Formats: sequence, structure tokens, C-alpha cells
Amino acid sequence: MHKTIACGDLRPEHVGTTVTLAGWVNRRRDHGGIIFIDLRDGKGIGQVVFNPDLSPTSHTVAEQFRNEWVVQVSGEVRPRPPGTENPALATGQVEVHATEALVLNPAQTPPFSIGEGVEVDEMVRMRYRYLDLRRQPMQENLRLRHRVIKFMRDFLDARDFVEIETPILIKSTPEGARDYLVPSRVHPGHFYALPQSPQQLKQLLMVSGFEKYDQIARCFRDEDLRADRQPEFTQLDLEMAFVHQEDVLELIEELYIALVETLTPQKRLLKPFPRVRYDDAVSKYGTDKPDLRFGLPLADLTEVAHSSQFRVLRDPVAQGGVVKGFAVPGIAGYSRRQTDELAHFARERGASGLLTVPLGGTAASLDDLKLEDIPSSLARYVSLEEVRAMARATGAGVGDMMLIAAGPASTVNVALGQLRQEMGRRLGLADPNHLAFAFIVDFPLLEWNETEGRWDSSHHPFTSPMEQYWEHLEADPGKARAQCYDLVCNGVELASGSIRIHRRDRQARILRLLGYSDAEIQERFGHLLEAFDFGAPPHGGIAPGIDRLVVLLSEGAESIRDVIAFPKTQSAVDLLFGAPSPVREEQLRELHLKVVPDEEKG
Ligand code: ASP
Repeated sequence: MHKTIACGDLRPEHVGTTVTLAGWVNRRRDHGGIIFIDLRDGKGIGQVVFNPDLSPTSHTVAEQFRNEWVVQVSGEVRPRPPGTENPALATGQVEVHATEALVLNPAQTPPFSIGEGVEVDEMVRMRYRYLDLRRQPMQENLRLRHRVIKFMRDFLDARDFVEIETPILIKSTPEGARDYLVPSRVHPGHFYALPQSPQQLKQLLMVSGFEKYDQIARCFRDEDLRADRQPEFTQLDLEMAFVHQEDVLELIEELYIALVETLTPQKRLLKPFPRVRYDDAVSKYGTDKPDLRFGLPLADLTEVAHSSQFRVLRDPVAQGGVVKGFAVPGIAGYSRRQTDELAHFARERGASGLLTVPLGGTAASLDDLKLEDIPSSLARYVSLEEVRAMARATGAGVGDMMLIAAGPASTVNVALGQLRQEMGRRLGLADPNHLAFAFIVDFPLLEWNETEGRWDSSHHPFTSPMEQYWEHLEADPGKARAQCYDLVCNGVELASGSIRIHRRDRQARILRLLGYSDAEIQERFGHLLEAFDFGAPPHGGIAPGIDRLVVLLSEGAESIRDVIAFPKTQSAVDLLFGAPSPVREEQLRELHLKVVPDEEKG
């Protein structure tokens, strides 16, 4: 080894010993002839002192040192002089007095500062990712990620799970996104697909008799990227035979509680994890991934609104829509500019408008409220009694403001759901130290796809409906509920899973409902259906995403890109390697491929 101890491991117990350190120069200070170096390695930072009286040669070497040079230093560990200790640093009681110094590799001035915690443009960070990863927060994020994955593996290993790798070159397995394709050289015109998840493979492993499977699995989905998506991402994929829905939920609940309490005990946990029905989540929070760290529930005001004289509310109801709203405490005094801003926020998220209804004045209770205390267009059109009814429904009191929207249910839910989240954030109700996990259950099995004119799976086609819906499935597909569940936390979806179909006839019925012809079923899913004929056990599983979980557990990671060593940009580009990139003509020929420029495609 080039070192006898890590820089970050230096402690008072080493005083009097001679050590050799190696690492990167984090900072160099010249104090009237004496040079101080903060030397950094994977374990942390240690201080080295170069005194020309003690060792003129090493002092001369240290004079050349610049930030990020890779150097090796030997010397004696001594206590720092009284008053110069640094309690903020684990190594802050001691320093190494250098008697030997060696440059292992000089470095160019980095494009951004590594040691000083300054904001750096993300594009530059990604272009020089190997330097970005040297920075303290990124070191912590990736080390946390490692601990999370290790914890999961150990936890499942102790419960008889077997980790099994599944192939990356495979046939398309649908999770609702586009596949990444890999052309075959040996089979002209044939392609592998990169797995969107190991879904069918883990089901086949159940048929194989591995009753508990898990894998830290890479998944590939070619979809338009949003802030919390990457073309490839990591899941803890797991599957179990002979389980019911509640068995899977209990295992996951136990895992997440143990994981958080062990790795991030400073986080506050809501226990046990509530099970929230999908319909209730959507009606109360406007979304199936509610942030349960705070209340602000949406109330249905359709009943009150439909009898009112106010056309803004009455007309959408007459057209089959809804009126919903929620109360935000203590903001009756918001200025016109502030309420306009909220309306703008709601319109940007699809609402046709937003009624802001402050309950102002000094009335002691709702009963004493007067119309002039309500500076809102609503008050001009509806009776005081109607305002009071809305206030009672939303739970608003004097001093609060009601935020109300009308229109088609899905539009209103999306806009108000996001506005609720925004208000939670603005009012500081969404405590970043608090983790509010919940399971969302009772999802619809299918969703009507308006543009394609067909049913799509809400989860994926292998999810089983609840037993009672098989009988009339084809007659009323929209009514069926699935044995399917999501784990959400703080407004983020962390995992999806389901109890699967394990019989050929039933799987074929679902695939037919989704619009596959018998020939397509055979061609795309024949292998799975055939396996079901050979004694498939009842089974189910789930696949928690690792990236988003690490963001939630970290101190300060802002996106999943902050917890992935080499992520891609929002436009799916790897700025470090410059991928994707053109390939040589000869490679294309071998793969029987030809690139058709856009203008020739017609
Ligand atoms: N394969 C599913 C997914 O990636 C998870 C599961 O059903 O286990 O969402």
C-alpha cells in the first residue's frame, strides 16, 4: 500500500506514531513559512504540517502542491497545539508533521472547486463526473446507496430469499414503456429488447420452485425523461410463491422500517404504514401518490355548488364535472398578487381557473362571518350560507383561505392535488426529516386509453384482478379492481407490485381484453403461458425503486441523478462518454442495419 492509515482515520490514539498518508490535496495554506495541507482520501480529511525547520526537503516539495494533486506524506502524528483543534472534523485533534513528501501525480486546476461546497452547474458536473464524485455530498450519497442495498440484501438473505441474476438481453416484457432494442448480428433483422423489468423472469423462477427471489435489478425504459426518471434505473426486484397481498406488504413494511431506523435514525417515521384505498387517495389528495406528512385534504363541494347561482361552479357540474376545494390555514391575508400566483399555478396544471376564498375579518366564528369579510368573486354570487357550507366541508375557519376548482374530475384532482403539495411546501408543513410511507391499494385493473380506443393495464398485464371480478370481467372491464399495490412516501411512488395470474386460461383472458390477438399472445407470451401449464404456484411480488429511496434518505440530494454514479441528462445523453454516438459503417453492416436520415423517412 502507498499508505499506512487513511487520512480520515487519524485520531489522538495515533499520537507518537509515524504514519504514511496518501490522497488528494484538498486545500493548501501557507502561514509564514509553515505550510498546512488538508489531505483528503475516501475516509475523510487529515491535516499535515510542513515545517522547514523539521524537514526542509519535504517543505520544498510541499511548496509545489496545488489543489487535487495526488501526494504521499510520512511523518509523526502529534496533538494540535491547544486552541487550534477543529471539533467539526473527526481528525481535528491531531496533525501529521511531515518528514517525507512525494508527488504521486500533479493535477490540472479542476473546472470547479472540489472542497468548498459551491454550487456548480449540473451539465459541468456531469461532463466531469469523476471530479463531481470526489465532492463530499456525492461521496455521502453513494456510500448511503451502498448501505441501503447491502441492508436490503442482508435482510432478505436472513429470510431465505435467493438473489438470482436474470438476463439483460431478452425479449420485450411490457411495463408500459418503449423498449431499448439491441440488433442481433447472427440473426439478421432480429432484435433483443433490454428488460423494462425482470417481471416475467421472476415469475418463471416461481414456477421453478425458488419460492423467494430477489435481485438488485437494472431496468431499461425508453421514455421521455422527467426529473425523477432515467433511461436505466435500479429496483430491488422480488417475488414470492404462495403469498397473499398482505404478506408482501408486511414484508416490505418490516424492511423499510428496519432500514430507516438503522441507517437514518434521525428521520421521523409514521408507523404502521397506512393502507389507503386508491379511490380515497384520489378523492382526498387528488393523486395516487399523496404526501401524507400533512393534511390539507380536498373536500367535494359538488353538492353545495350545484344548487348555487354561480355559473363558474354550476356549469361544470351540469356537464358532469365536480367542484372540489381545500382550506389553507392562516393565509386569509394573502395579497392579490399572491392569490393570482396560486391561480396561475393551478391553471398551469390544467385547471380552468381557481377560486380563492379568504375568510377574513375578525369574526369569532364562521357563524359571525359577514359577506364583506370574504373578498372573493364567490361572495358576489353565492349566499353566505353557501360559503359557510363550503367552509364546513373543507374545514376552513376564520383567517383561512379556501382554494376551489371546478371541471372534469381528473383535471380538478391533478390541479388541486399539486396545489395542495405546493401549499404544504410553502407553509413548511412538509418536513424533510419526516418519512410518511403508505401503501395504496385497490387500484383499478384497467384504464381506458382514449387515444388508442382500448383498455390498458393500470399496472402490467400479469396482475391479477381480485377474485370476485373474474366472473363479469369481459362484460364490465372498467369495474374490476386489482390485487395490486404501490408504496408511496412524501408524494413519491417508491414501489409497485401485485399478486399475479398463475393460470393459462386467465392470463389469456386478460391479454385478449388488452387487445392482443391469439397469434400475438402465442408469439409474445407463449413461453409464460406454457410455463403456467407445468404447475405454477400462486405468486406475487413488488419492485421498490432504489434511486428515489436513496434521495429520500439522503441529506440534500435533489434528484435521482445525485444518487447515481454516472447518470444521463434529461435528454438521455451521457455527457462524460458522449453517448449515444454514431458508430462505424462497418459495425452497422455487420448488424444488417442502415441509418435512414430523417428527411428520407417521409
Ligand atoms: N415489474 C413491476 C415494475 O417494474 C413490479 C412488480 O410488479 O413486481 O413496476
